[in-house]
Amino acid sequence: MIPISDPKRQLIEIQDSVMCEIKEVFSSGQYILGPNVETLENKIADKLGVSEAIAVANGTDALVLSLMACNIGEGDEVITTPFTFFATAEAIIRVGATPIFVDVEEETCNMDPKQITNKISPNTKAILPVHLFGQPADMNPIMKIARENNLYVIEDACQAFGASYDGHLVGSIGDLACFSFFPTKNLSTIGDGGIITTSNKAFADKIRSLRAHGSRKKYFHDEIGYNSRLDEIHAAILLQCLNHIDTWNQCRIKLACRYNKELNHLQSIHLLPTPKRHRHVYHLYCLFSPHREKIIRHLRKYDIATAIYYPLCLHLQKALSFLNGRKGDFPNAECLSEQIFAIPLFPGMTSSEQDHVISAIQSYEDEILC
Ligand SMILES: *Cc1c(COP(=O)(O)O)cnc(C)c1O
Repeated sequence: MIPISDPKRQLIEIQDSVMCEIKEVFSSGQYILGPNVETLENKIADKLGVSEAIAVANGTDALVLSLMACNIGEGDEVITTPFTFFATAEAIIRVGATPIFVDVEEETCNMDPKQITNKISPNTKAILPVHLFGQPADMNPIMKIARENNLYVIEDACQAFGASYDGHLVGSIGDLACFSFFPTKNLSTIGDGGIITTSNKAFADKIRSLRAHGSRKKYFHDEIGYNSRLDEIHAAILLQCLNHIDTWNQCRIKLACRYNKELNHLQSIHLLPTPKRHRHVYHLYCLFSPHREKIIRHLRKYDIATAIYYPLCLHLQKALSFLNGRKGDFPNAECLSEQIFAIPLFPGMTSSEQDHVISAIQSYEDEILC
């Protein structure tokens, strides 16, 4: 079976240096928030051109702690997208605030900035765009609306390390940004991890305290916090991966370009248009088609995995039924959830594997056309 993603393949490439780093951590005796975490924070801040990076336990915590840094809680509203991983909205609710959804643009699958202004109320505190599948959200208009209305912008960049918008890396555009190091993400480790980036010192200071039980000085607690720290082992592995992330992203982009070229002429399957000014890093490569289920069955016969991100929009999730979302509220997001599917794309995917995927998809088209 050709999988959708294969994190092991990218790690095998650097296995020796990773094992070496793991041994070093083992013998160092320092296992949590040590020198590797500090180096990782500095390197990621430098790479993104921000002044602060704060490593945390996972991407979801990165979102929760960012919202808390902005003092967002009970009674507040945060504008976000209904077409994303559940954690985006879950984090907003975790802090006591309410997610207010706006529909997405069908071409980018990202929040449609034109629909934001209508949703702003006196309770709105922040906009939380997601750079879905590795494609940057339309940040210029989002930042403009936020500045005009005195709102914070928190980027959910969990799927998009290395993507850029108008020459700026995602994670350096909003007031705060959140990344996940979950094994399938572009920059990942062999467990959970996350990081928050910002150029606001006060936010960074607050998040550093919150991630360690609200404490700035050991055993003196200024506020109620969390235990949300990154382990040295993961930081050491991530430092190795950071040396390769540009190459790996380049590899994803190359595979995506080939798919775009070879699948462009199909009639039953549609490509998501390639962005012009922006750098999409293809955390996932998605197609859409009204015949999705048939195509998935066809590809399975050829031992090709597919996956649906995401089969149910957030406003229709059972856990969020208290928000009273209804079918028809966000037509673009709903249409995507009914038609979208991802095909295999990952660093280390061989060209013969890609040939196989391409010819299987073309054979589906040939079968239905005759
Ligand atoms: C993965 C992901 C998260 C959560 O990250 P975890 O590290 O799994 O907690 C949040 N938002 C989006 C868009 C994601 O893809």
